[in-house]
Amino acid sequence: MELHIVCIPGDGIGPEIVAEARKVLDRVAKVYGHTMVYKDILMGGASIDVHGVPLTQEAIADAKAADAVLMGSIGGDTNTSPWYKLPPNLRPEAGLLKIRKELQLFANLRPAYLYEELAAACPLKEEISRAGFDMLIMRELTGGLYFGERKTVEENGVRKAYDTLTYDENEIRRIAVKGFEIARKRKHKVTSVDKANVLDSSRLWRAVVNEVAQDYPDVEVEHMLVDNCAMQLVKDPAQFDVILTENMFGDILSDEASMVTGSIGMLSSASLNDTKFGLYEPSHGSAPDIAGKDIANPIATVLSAAMMLRYSFDLDKEADAVENAVKQVLKEGYRTGDIFSDGCVRVGCRQMGDLLAERIV
Ligand code: NAD
Repeated sequence: MELHIVCIPGDGIGPEIVAEARKVLDRVAKVYGHTMVYKDILMGGASIDVHGVPLTQEAIADAKAADAVLMGSIGGDTNTSPWYKLPPNLRPEAGLLKIRKELQLFANLRPAYLYEELAAACPLKEEISRAGFDMLIMRELTGGLYFGERKTVEENGVRKAYDTLTYDENEIRRIAVKGFEIARKRKHKVTSVDKANVLDSSRLWRAVVNEVAQDYPDVEVEHMLVDNCAMQLVKDPAQFDVILTENMFGDILSDEASMVTGSIGMLSSASLNDTKFGLYEPSHGSAPDIAGKDIANPIATVLSAAMMLRYSFDLDKEADAVENAVKQVLKEGYRTGDIFSDGCVRVGCRQMGDLLAERIV
């Protein structure tokens, strides 16, 4: 298979971690008989430095022409970088918002998986973490409260602010379909999270999710109120497979789920549109404090590349091979600095990439 991938190395540690993910993808191509065709584009600070804007129309066109986008991360030190003296629409993050909008990426996926070898970093009680967990938060990314009408007014000398939360049934249906499709590639369970005891938008959400569920009789569906879900994530995370939810609830719950893994350098993510196209990137930022030192952990980006193989290319065997390589390297005791513990072997970013690539079978 020929895979056309646009890469956005970006800023900070971005170029280092994308290089290692490519190393692993190249090895996958060799072992499984695929051809990777890469094209690099600039985004964020790297694009500002060259073009004066965080994302050009040409770069957007290149991304649209690809099968998938693999990104490192963008942005600099927000206190010291000259990029943050620019108006907000010209800062690095504006490039990310623009590409998400242009590519119509409405579904954000963030897996949270507890590796046995890293269980000590999990902030939960040992009796809870012992059971392990392997869940994926599917968050609606382009609707809801963050995109509704808002205003601040003054009434009788009192300031008053409004934000509106709206979803139409089509927006809910398309994310629900994604959630059920992805549950089929995992453990066949969807927990739909809402606040249906209070919000109309949540009652519609629940009704539409139930309609979509009719088409997926092989997937178990349950509904959970968001406040309960926030508690269950720390009480019994092993119960979850796919958590399907709207934009703001997903924003909060995905950070909570990330935190319980305890390892920022291990967290992958994907943003998908309604085709097989997706943008894959680690959940962490550009870590300017450690950029250029060959100490960044490339695993989150490598795991994002595995998601790309699975969700954009339906190459499940190849995605499994990458995920197994990560497990194997951890089992053998190799660690970058961020996940290091006594008795392990400390390696840099490049060496971690080499070890992972060597273990693709
Ligand atoms: P960050 O995630 O970059 O870093 C937080 C801490 O985690 C730092 O100490 C960093 O060294 C460490 N860290 C992060 N990734 C690591 C890795 N792979 N290996 C080892 N250590 C790692 O968050 P921040 O410092 O708040 O943000 C830095 C910049 O990144 C900002 O400009 C921010 O806007 C940007 N950012 C970009 C994205 C994105 O591109 N999607 C996401 C979040 C933040």
